[in-house]
Amino acid sequence: MFEQIKLTYGFDALEPYIDTLTMETHYGKHHAAYTANLNKAVEQLPELQGKTIEEILSNLDQISDAALRTTVQNNGGGFYNHNLYFAIMAPGGSKEPTGDLLQKINAQFGGYDQLKEKLTAAANGRFGSGWAWLSTDAQGNLQVTSTPNQDNPLMADGGKFTPILGIDVWEHAYYLKYKNLRGDYVKAFFEVVNWDEVAARYAEAVNS
Ligand code: MN
Repeated sequence: MFEQIKLTYGFDALEPYIDTLTMETHYGKHHAAYTANLNKAVEQLPELQGKTIEEILSNLDQISDAALRTTVQNNGGGFYNHNLYFAIMAPGGSKEPTGDLLQKINAQFGGYDQLKEKLTAAANGRFGSGWAWLSTDAQGNLQVTSTPNQDNPLMADGGKFTPILGIDVWEHAYYLKYKNLRGDYVKAFFEVVNWDEVAARYAEAVNS
């Protein structure tokens, strides 16, 4: 059984950047539904028993039933992506990258501001629903990308890149407060990123 991560903060803790009702609905309805639908699909797929979500999403083609494969892609992606999203936001923690991750950001992108610009462009440029990502390979090389729907970087290149930060740009992530102004939401998102958590995920992905 896959389970939603437990939030380490209240639904109102990210105000005024992410509003309480959006958090309640996003975590309590959308994320809960992806998780329940993933579990229902996995029950029907003996080949997935005992596998981690990362193993499943990195090898979707091992699911022979096409309809169930799509269900796992959409809902397994939704489960995984939101577990990351809700984990890397927090009212506290470092508001800018530090340590090894910052050094790599400086080396690859020229600085945090430049990385933020790239992520913002990926998020605002995604047409329709999807995500913008900061991912790393096992050598610590970073990558900024965007994917549609509930896809993520694990689903490409046999899972070579592991997402360490994800920006949800589905309208359900911002519409109640920001309406059509996705750019304002993306700007606000950076105010609630906990870079300590992103750095921990970077270290884990590089050392594993
Ligand atoms: Mn979402």
